[in-house]
Amino acid sequence: MAYKAEYIWIDGTQPTAKLRSKVKIFQDGEELGLWGFDGSSTNQAPGKASDCVLRPVFDCPDPIRGGDNRLVMCEVLLTDMTPHPSNTRAACAAVAERFASQEPWFGIEQEYTFLQDGRPLGWPVGGFPGPQGPYYCGVGSDEIFGRDVVEAHSDACMEAGLAISGTNAEVMMGQWEFQIGPADPLSAADQIWLARWLLYRIAEDFDVVATLDPKPIPGDWNGAGAHTNFSTKAMREGYDPVITACEALGKNARKHIELYGDGIEKRLTGLHETAPWTEFSYGVSDRGASVRIPWMVEVDKKGYIEDRRPNANCDPYIVTRLITETCCSELDAAGQA
Ligand code: ADP
Ligand code: MN
Ligand code: MN
Ligand code: MN
Repeated sequence: MAYKAEYIWIDGTQPTAKLRSKVKIFQDGEELGLWGFDGSSTNQAPGKASDCVLRPVFDCPDPIRGGDNRLVMCEVLLTDMTPHPSNTRAACAAVAERFASQEPWFGIEQEYTFLQDGRPLGWPVGGFPGPQGPYYCGVGSDEIFGRDVVEAHSDACMEAGLAISGTNAEVMMGQWEFQIGPADPLSAADQIWLARWLLYRIAEDFDVVATLDPKPIPGDWNGAGAHTNFSTKAMREGYDPVITACEALGKNARKHIELYGDGIEKRLTGLHETAPWTEFSYGVSDRGASVRIPWMVEVDKKGYIEDRRPNANCDPYIVTRLITETCCSELDAAGQA
C-alpha cells in the first residue's frame, strides 16, 4: 500500500524555534530518504538560495493516520550536506558519541499549558480561577481541564513507540506534563520534539492550543519547565559520581542558564518551586534548588539527579548536550567515568 510520511523538522525562528511538517507520499515498498523545503518561509534561508535539505533521523508509526503511515523526525542540512546553522542536533550527536561509554540517560518532564480563546483552558472569562493548590494531580471537572486531550496524546505516544513514562496535571489550572525517558541524550531529545509535534497536532482536533510558554500567566501562577533527569552508569552505581555531577553543573551554571530557553529569568524567580536564575544550588528533596537529588537516591547512595532549571520551551538537543558535556567530562577527570 502507498503510505504517507509526515516529515517533521525544527525551523529557524528566533529566539524559540517552531516545528514544521509536510507530507510525502511513498509507493508500496519505497523507502524514506532525503527531501527538501523552502527555507525562505521558515527563517532558514534567503529567497535567492532557498533550498534546505531534510534528512530523516528517527521515524515511527503514525498513530493518527494508522496503517503503514509514518512520522519522520528530520534534521536540516545545507545543500552541501553539512548541518544548517539552526541544526542543534548535530552537536548533540557528536557529544553523545564522545561520551557513549559512560552510558548517559535522560528523562525529561515536559510541562505545557492548554489555551482556548486566548486564556488557559478552564479559566473564567475576564478573571482568575481559585488560587493554586487543588489542581496538581487533581480530579473532578471543577479542577481538571483537558484530560481528554492528554489521554489522546499519551495513547498516541505509546502507539508511536516513544519512551513516554507518565503524565500528570500540573499546579496551574490548565497546565499538564508528560515525561519521556530514560533514554540516551539523542533519543530523549528526538522523542521530546516528536511528542511536542503530536501534542500540537492532537490539540488541533480538540480546538485547543498547547503552548510551551515558560510563564504563560505573570504573577502568582506556576511557570512551565522541562525538568531534566540525568544519570550515567557510574551515578547509577554510586553516590560520589552523583555529587560530582552536581558540582560540575554548579561550575558551569551561567553557561547552562543562558541556553535553557528564552525567558528563563521570568520563570526562575525563587518562587513557585524554582531557584533564582542568578544563584546555583543543589540539595536532597529540595524543589527550591536548581538541582534536586531525589530522596531515595540519597538513601540508596546511587541513582540520578534532576536539573530543574530548563524551561518548557528549551531545545532538548541543547540541554542534553550541555549536561552530558559538563557532567561526563568532569566525571572523566575525577576518575569516576
Ligand atoms: P518528578 O518527581 O520530578 O515529578 P517525574 O516522575 O515526573 O519526576 O519524572 C522523572 C523522570 O526521570 C522520568 O522521565 C523517569 O523516566 C526519569 N528517570 C528515572 N530514573 C532515571 C535515571 N536513572 N536517569 C535518568 N532519568 C531517569
Ligand atoms: Mn514530574
Ligand atoms: Mn512538573
Ligand atoms: Mn520534576
